[in-house]
Amino acid sequence: MNRLDHRDPLVFDTHELGRRPGAMRKVNRTLKAPEGLGIIDVIAVPEGSPIELELRLESVVEGVLVTGTAEAEVEGECVRCLEPVEFDIDVDFQELYYYPESEERLARTPGAEDLDEDSEDETYRLEGDLFDLQPVLRDAVVLALPLQPVCQDDCLGLCSECGARLSDDPTHHHDAADPRWAALQGLSAAPGDEGDGIKTSDTREGLAENQEK
Ligand SMILES: [Zn+2]
Ligand SMILES: [Zn+2]
Repeated sequence: MNRLDHRDPLVFDTHELGRRPGAMRKVNRTLKAPEGLGIIDVIAVPEGSPIELELRLESVVEGVLVTGTAEAEVEGECVRCLEPVEFDIDVDFQELYYYPESEERLARTPGAEDLDEDSEDETYRLEGDLFDLQPVLRDAVVLALPLQPVCQDDCLGLCSECGARLSDDPTHHHDAADPRWAALQGLSAAPGDEGDGIKTSDTREGLAENQEK
């Protein structure tokens, strides 16, 4: 029945707290981030990076009320320019973990029907004296993350023609796009001689003609 592992750093033991309503304990723990804490492929807490947890466990009639904060660093990619994005987050959460045997009492609680509608699968329960903070922490972290992280609020993104990062070079632009010019500029190897492409190739053609004669 007890599938939680007390060695898991996100599993906490409420044995010392006891079950007398009103009892309170504080627990601080620094742990290494589990994998996948965040929004996959967008922004997340790097696996193995430190997370600092401060929890307050309170014994209430139905179970244990867990209130806490987590500090962690997150890493992702700017959605506009693809530069790395890194910052710290500080998230708050609160969750009631029901005692394993509190099921019937819960069902008889007035108002429990409304709760069932949208929060039935979000009811957390102690297993023995243990509870798993992982799903609660995960939800709190995901809610704190931007769905579209940017390196800076006014990031200009990338040039649609050449992919240059525009915030590095706000005056960046391309001359009116005549596809024949673009092709010639693509051929000239050395940077900095843009615009000389025609002259250079004229000269080369001239030379080639002279050599043929
Ligand atoms: Zn950016
Ligand atoms: Zn460009």
